[in-house]
Amino acid sequence: MQPDEFDVVVVGGGNAGFSAAHAAAERGRRVLLLEKGPEEGAGGNSYYTAGAFRVVHDGLGGLAGLLDPDDRHAGTVLPAYPAAEFAADMAKVTGGRNDKALTEVLIAESARTLRWLHGKGLRFRLMYERQAYPGGDGRQIFWGGLAVGSTGGGKGLIEQHTRAARQAGVELRYGVRARELTLDGGRVTGVTWEDAEGRGGVVRAESVVLAAGGFEADAGMRREHLGEGWQRAKVRGTPYNTGDMLAAAIAAGAGTHGDWGTCHSVAWDAWHAENESNRELTNRLTRGGYPLGIVVNADGRRFLDEGADFRNLTYAKYGARILAQPGGVAFQLFDATTRPKLRVEEYDMPGASVVTGQTIEEMAAGMGVDAAALRGTVEEFNASIDRSVPLDLSVLDGRAAATTPPKSNWAIPLEVPPFYAFPVTCGITFTFGGLHADTHGRVLDGGGDPIPGLLVCGEMLGGLFSGNYPGGTGLTSGAVFGRRAGSLA
Ligand SMILES: Cc1cc2nc3c(=O)[nH]c(=O)nc-3n(C[C@H](O)[C@H](O)[C@H](O)COP(=O)(O)OP(=O)(O)OC[C@H]3O[C@@H](n4cnc5c(N)ncnc54)[C@H](O)[C@@H]3O)c2cc1C
Repeated sequence: MQPDEFDVVVVGGGNAGFSAAHAAAERGRRVLLLEKGPEEGAGGNSYYTAGAFRVVHDGLGGLAGLLDPDDRHAGTVLPAYPAAEFAADMAKVTGGRNDKALTEVLIAESARTLRWLHGKGLRFRLMYERQAYPGGDGRQIFWGGLAVGSTGGGKGLIEQHTRAARQAGVELRYGVRARELTLDGGRVTGVTWEDAEGRGGVVRAESVVLAAGGFEADAGMRREHLGEGWQRAKVRGTPYNTGDMLAAAIAAGAGTHGDWGTCHSVAWDAWHAENESNRELTNRLTRGGYPLGIVVNADGRRFLDEGADFRNLTYAKYGARILAQPGGVAFQLFDATTRPKLRVEEYDMPGASVVTGQTIEEMAAGMGVDAAALRGTVEEFNASIDRSVPLDLSVLDGRAAATTPPKSNWAIPLEVPPFYAFPVTCGITFTFGGLHADTHGRVLDGGGDPIPGLLVCGEMLGGLFSGNYPGGTGLTSGAVFGRRAGSLA
C-alpha cells in the first residue's frame, strides 16, 4: 500500500490534538488527525471534562467579548486571577516540582490562547454552578481563581473543536491507532497505524505531533509506575489513553520528564455500577463537595483535612488518599444544613450512590461502618469547631476544627438530620509523567537535543504537575502547548 503523505500528522483527538491541528491548519499545512477511538467514542479525556479552563484574568471586564452573554453577569463578583497567583498555585500544589519554563509559558499564554480558540468558534462562559457561591444579596461570588469553562462542558468543547477542524480542512480519521514512529537518520518521518479491522499502513509527514494522552487507562502501567493498588483505581475518562505513544516515542529515542510516580485522582462514586469511562455521566460521578463536610474511612475515622485549601487545589490529590484507605473506599458525610449546598450536577446525578439516616447510627448501618466509631468521630469533630469564627465559603475563612486531622477551614458541625453518606473511591484522571520537550513542544532526546520532526502536547508533555494539580489546568495546558506545537509543525 502506498503511504499517505501529509505535512502534519496529529496523533490523538482531544483538546491538545485539536489545538495543534487548528494551529497547523491556519498556516496552510495539510493536516491529518488520527484518533484511536471510534467517532462515537472520541474526544479523549477532554470529552469527559467539565470544560474548566484556568486562565489569567483581571475580572469580568477583562473577559469581555470572550463569554457567552448571561444576565447573571451584572450581579457577579469575580476577583481577578493575576499571573502571579496562577504561578503561586502551581508551585504550591506541586511542592515546587513544576517545570519553571513550561509553567511560565502556560500562564503567559493562557488568556491569549483562549481568545484564539474563541476565534475558531469555541465558546466560553462563567461556571456559576461549580465555582461560585450565592452571596446572599442575589450576587454570585466566584472563589479560587477558576471561573471560565467551555459552553456545553467537555462534550461541547469536543463538538466545537471538531467543527472548527473540519472547517479548516483537517482530515479526521477515527478508529485508527498510531503504533510506531518511522525514522530516517534520526528524523521522525511519520507513523505506522492499524485500525479495528486489522488493516494497517504508514502515514508520512514532515512533523508528527503527539497528543495521545497519558497511561491512566492501562492497569499494568499504573501498577508499574504509580505503585501497587493503582491497578484497582477507576478510570474516569477515556479507555484509550493506554500509554502506547509514550512507549513508541521512548522507543524512538525521546527523553522522559516530570513525575511518573504520581497522577491526578479524585473522589469518585464508589458504588455506581458503571463508574468507569461513562460517556453519559462523565464528570458527574465526581464527588467534590468534601470541603463542606467530613470524610471518613470504612473504620469510621477521618484521615484528611477536608478544608486544607480551596477544592480546586486539593481534589486532585485526594483520590490517592482514598485508595490508601481500607478497601480503597471512604464516605463523604453531610447533614441537612450542608446537603443543599452541594453541586447539583454531582450529588443529584441520576443513580448517585448515597446512604441516608435520621440518626448517625442509622446511617452507619447503611454504610457498613461501626456505629459507635462513627458517632465518636462526629461528636469529636463537632466539639472541636471554633464556632466564633464566621463561615465564609468564598474565602479561606479559618473556621477550623481543632481535631486530628484538623479541618482548617469551613468547619460546619454535622448535627441536623437527615444525615447523608456518599461512598467514594479513587477515580484516576490522568498521569503526570510524560515526554521531555522544550517550551515549543519539540521533543528532546535523552541528551536534551530536539528529535527533528517530533512534537508533543497535552497529557503526554511531562513536567508541569507532580503530586497534585490546580483544577482547570489540563485543558489550558493542552490548548497552549497544542497551539505552540501546531505553530511549529
Ligand atoms: C472526568 C474528567 C473531568 C475533567 N475535568 C477537567 C476540567 O474541567 N478542566 C481541565 O482542565 N481538565 C479536566 N480534566 C483533565 C483533562 O481531561 C485533561 O487534562 C485533558 O483533556 C487532556 O487533553 P489531551 O488532549 O492531552 O488528552 P485526551 O483528551 O485524553 O486526548 C488524547 C486522545 O488520544 C487518543 N489516543 C491515545 N492513544 C492513541 C494512539 N495510539 N493513536 C491514536 N490516538 C490515540 C485517545 O483516544 C484520546 O482521544 C478532566 C478529566 C476527566 C477524566
